[in-house]
Amino acid sequence: MKTGFDNTFSNDKDIDNSKLNILSLLTVFMENSVSNAAIYTKHSNRTIITSKDISLSLKREVFEFLNSDDLEIRAKEILDEYIEEFNNEEEDEEDEEDDEIDEKKMNDNYSTEETEEFVESTCNCDICIQMNKYNNIWKDWKPTNKIEEILYNGIVKIDNDFNLN
Ligand SMILES: [Zn+2]
Repeated sequence: MKTGFDNTFSNDKDIDNSKLNILSLLTVFMENSVSNAAIYTKHSNRTIITSKDISLSLKREVFEFLNSDDLEIRAKEILDEYIEEFNNEEEDEEDEEDDEIDEKKMNDNYSTEETEEFVESTCNCDICIQMNKYNNIWKDWKPTNKIEEILYNGIVKIDNDFNLN
């Protein structure tokens, strides 16, 4: 089925591709943050990911994201998925229904009523060491370019909103 979006896509391919590229990179950034926050939580012998774990993992990504060996490959895979999705509207609608069900399951599994106090990980794996290290230098660190500045301001806002300072 031909959609308005498909037309935009083919008429203005370059612009849309650069937007999709940024979206793909951002997706990898968020995937890294969530999975490292989960690793850090587990390595601290805790079971519930706290906002502090997320904050630490976001800080790590600011410094380590561009060093990931497989960054280009993963971003390309996600880019291909986005293009595939945007080109098939009917499939999108089915996906949305699935997502709603998934979200319901997630909420059932991760109760927000339970709380667990954050404790710093003393584990010696690369992820835990990096997350602790960058958290320690964070308060004295200043962004050196526009992208770092955007990430820095976003994380400072999260820390303030969740009282993580
Ligand atoms: Zn660890």
